[in-house]
Amino acid sequence: MAEITDTSEFESPLYRTALAQLDRVAARLSLEPNIHERLRHPRRALVVSIPVRMDDGNTKVFRGYRVQHSTVLGPTKGGLRYDADVNLGEVTALAMLMSWKCALAGLPYGGAKGGVRCNPRSMSVTERENLTLGTDEQTMAWMMDTYSMTQGKTVPGIVTGKPLIVGGSAGRREATGRGIVYALYQAARHLGQPLRGQRVVVQGFGNVGSVAARLLWREGCVISGVSDVKGGIVSPHGIDIRQLEAHVAEAGGVAGFPGTEPVSNAELLEQPCDVLVPAAIGSQIREDNADRIKATIVAEGANGPTTPEADAILRDRGVTVIPDILANAGGVIVSYFEWVQGLQYYFWRESEITTRLQEIMTRAFNRVWALGAKEGTDLRTAALMEGVRRVAEGYRVRGLYP
Ligand code: NAD
Repeated sequence: MAEITDTSEFESPLYRTALAQLDRVAARLSLEPNIHERLRHPRRALVVSIPVRMDDGNTKVFRGYRVQHSTVLGPTKGGLRYDADVNLGEVTALAMLMSWKCALAGLPYGGAKGGVRCNPRSMSVTERENLTLGTDEQTMAWMMDTYSMTQGKTVPGIVTGKPLIVGGSAGRREATGRGIVYALYQAARHLGQPLRGQRVVVQGFGNVGSVAARLLWREGCVISGVSDVKGGIVSPHGIDIRQLEAHVAEAGGVAGFPGTEPVSNAELLEQPCDVLVPAAIGSQIREDNADRIKATIVAEGANGPTTPEADAILRDRGVTVIPDILANAGGVIVSYFEWVQGLQYYFWRESEITTRLQEIMTRAFNRVWALGAKEGTDLRTAALMEGVRRVAEGYRVRGLYP
């Protein structure tokens, strides 16, 4: 057994959940105990203090984290989180989940995650540039540029999510929402119901939720409810997503869209529908509302929208939950394409990207579905089993050091 069994530096509710998931899956896989122990600890974690000159002339110091969970399958990959509550434990848990997500999709990456404790919405563009980290395309361009300057040449492969003009990938912005649709295709096929005509509710109308809603609407689904941070709207007859997008561009939110009724975010989740896509924030489906979810399929666009307690309730009620590490993997898959294109300085057409994305999502979904059926487990357990098994296999053939 390894010597570090104490994981108190990483103590957080999310890390505890991630460890519990790993331990459960390790038992099911009869994982070799030394490999299991190795997987419970991140490969490395870095805490930095970032001094930033604010617009008022004063310097403020921000805390930043970068955690690499595993490097056994390749270089590490994982986004940055800008949040007032971000901490080392949360970033460590998310890095671990990224390891399983990348391995499940068959990408040559280990999992990582970064975070800066700050409130990006209260900072100006200059302040965010000074902080040098962020989560939009502009920030990724700054990061690529800063790294490239230290190298004396342009290095597009260092970060993904860049603007197209400096080595971004076609289709990256739509990737996660599109991936959800490919996963839903497969789920509907296995359940023997066509996707067309299904009633869909989407929580969150940002990057992930709005793209998923638009593509599902184009596929002939009835989008009967959507929401954003300010609240939701519903219409039993379905919402025209193209017109809604125009309304959001003008009004700044979904509220007030003609022909719809207002609902709260809590009510939205409980609307009668076939498919629910939580694509906003974590912990939305909980022990106290899981009983009232009417959907028969939940496709997790957000990370961790279902708490472990709610997960058990949905499982008992026979709801098919397509777990986050599978349903929202489209983003990291197209980031992988961006990296490959950047290494080769050769860029693909959008149609090539979507074809390859569909191929990987479909393969991953069907593997998880088959494993779930074979083992008699829900899709979340099967997806974790597949992801963990692959990372463990990497350690088995390479050895545990470092
Ligand atoms: P986004 O910021 O573009 O959109 C978030 C949406 O959720 C917005 O409509 C916002 O108004 C809404 N929202 C915020 N807080 C809310 C609340 N308390 N209640 C209801 N709605 C709320 O973000 P995004 O990129 O669409 O990401 C959404 C989720 O998907 C996040 O959990 C993110 O971690 C996850 N995710 C995103 C990607 C990606 O490629 N963008 C990939 C994997 C996972």
